[in-house]
Amino acid sequence: MKIPKVTKRHCKHCRKHTEHKVAEAKKKGRSTSNPLSRFGSRRLLDRGANRGAGNQGKFSKPPIKNWRSTGKKLSKKTDLRYTCNACKKTSAQHSGVRAKKIEMV
Ligand SMILES: [Zn+2]
Repeated sequence: MKIPKVTKRHCKHCRKHTEHKVAEAKKKGRSTSNPLSRFGSRRLLDRGANRGAGNQGKFSKPPIKNWRSTGKKLSKKTDLRYTCNACKKTSAQHSGVRAKKIEMV
């Protein structure tokens, strides 16, 4: 996916359209950016839901032995940061788009 280095966007601080510099944010791991995606609840996570062996009494499915093979997504959502050239304030992208590879043009 090709993304332009500079785009014209609305800056909420300047209250008008200005030139913005586009940069990709540093990717965080899944455990820090989305901690509930693995266990589903904060309470279980605090109690330590990943303790012990097996699948915590869920007999409907066999225990997952290899996390790599469980529906792993091959692409990542873009996390772009737009820096206003007039006031130098940075704003984040509202919702990312799935892409395997990002190329700044
Ligand atoms: Zn601005």
